Amino acid sequence: MGHREHETPQAEATPCPGCGAAAGALVDSLPTADLAELYRRRGIEVSAYFETTALIRRFRCQACDLGYFSPPCPGDGPFYEQLQTQSWYYQDEKPEYDYAARFIQAGQRVLEVGCGKGAFHAWLPSKVSYRGLEFNMEAVQKAQAAGLDVRKQSIEEHATRHPAAYDRVCSFQVLEHVPEPASFVHACVDALAPGGLLIIAVPAEDSFLAVAANAPLNMPPHHVLRWSDRALRNLANREGLVLKDLWHEPIAPFHRDWQLQALAHHYLARRRARLIDHSLRYRLAARLLQRQSIRDWLAQRAVRASPDLERGHTVILVAEKPALT
Ligand SMILES: [Zn+2]
Repeated sequence: MGHREHETPQAEATPCPGCGAAAGALVDSLPTADLAELYRRRGIEVSAYFETTALIRRFRCQACDLGYFSPPCPGDGPFYEQLQTQSWYYQDEKPEYDYAARFIQAGQRVLEVGCGKGAFHAWLPSKVSYRGLEFNMEAVQKAQAAGLDVRKQSIEEHATRHPAAYDRVCSFQVLEHVPEPASFVHACVDALAPGGLLIIAVPAEDSFLAVAANAPLNMPPHHVLRWSDRALRNLANREGLVLKDLWHEPIAPFHRDWQLQALAHHYLARRRARLIDHSLRYRLAARLLQRQSIRDWLAQRAVRASPDLERGHTVILVAEKPALT
């Protein structure tokens, strides 16, 4: 009985965590045992987060276009501590830092939500008043030791105490981790002064990431949301913001091989992308794609069919809180 209920999407459809609409279209179902195995191959143990469910379903909101997982099984403190022991996890230089910094001028009050060690501060003009919020205590201590004003506090709590206090509220690679994005973004907007800018960078769903199979870090417990351009625009609209920019970064050199591999697989499969693919067909294709000339030729065909797949990992939304009239 229980098993049959799992296969009836309507019976358990989960409302969209972004806009609250009831109807999410079921896109894909991820067996959590397979997902845990993908993480294990990268040296990360996640099975504790999947204890209550054998299957995570992936939805796309038909109203706002946000991609989400149900149950979201979000990671917690110990999960992120585990990730930080991986050499590839910390990045002090992100292409989006450079782009976002163009929107920030000397004298402005900047709040960064989920700021880690505060690496973004180094990209800002010297006369900026910078404050960061971060949950990871080790990162908070490192930032404070470097003389930065970084606190362990949620944006919801911070905005209550500091309404309309900032000219810029930024967050980089955070919103895809947040199971309740509506209250997160609403609080970011509360903290903004009228005329201020919200700057949010997330992994782009309108990029090669949409078709990258067997990439566990873009799935729970790491990422619980997938943001398309349309979903970001709708987010800004719901908050009464005026869209100023939606920028896709070009592919980063260190993502190029991953991108070509994903696109070549996608072109060969020619069907709706599944996030986890353990089929024999996939494994045979992987062997074929070790030949770079074949891989690159197929990837080129994929881009010709869907130009968005050429885009890089990250998209940045810049939106303005209207000035009071
Ligand atoms: Zn929605």
